[in-house]
Amino acid sequence: MHQHQNLKSGFTITELLICVAIIGIILGIGVPAILASRDKSQQTTCMSNLLAINIAKRGWATDNLKPETAQPTSADLIGPTKYMKSMPECPTGGTYTFRQIWQRPQCSIDNHTI
Ligand SMILES: [Zn+2]
Repeated sequence: MHQHQNLKSGFTITELLICVAIIGIILGIGVPAILASRDKSQQTTCMSNLLAINIAKRGWATDNLKPETAQPTSADLIGPTKYMKSMPECPTGGTYTFRQIWQRPQCSIDNHTI
């Protein structure tokens, strides 16, 4: 005796489309917020690095009686016995420029400034 197969699936196509639409809306709201939060966090970390570099520059200038126009190199500031143990890294891959003592150090990423 041939058994009748129940071919009805658990969800209709309309229900599936509604689910997909709801997931899309949730992602549309959530993902930009998460990305913005990540950007802000990376920017804050970078600013903290720039402040540390600035403090190191000031320490070097004071200890070595350097004028405000002096420009330290990484050899001056970084090393186990120097002002910073290692070169801080921008979380988004920007590169740091020490600049002169009176100038604030810079990151190559636009909104990473102190
Ligand atoms: Zn940066």
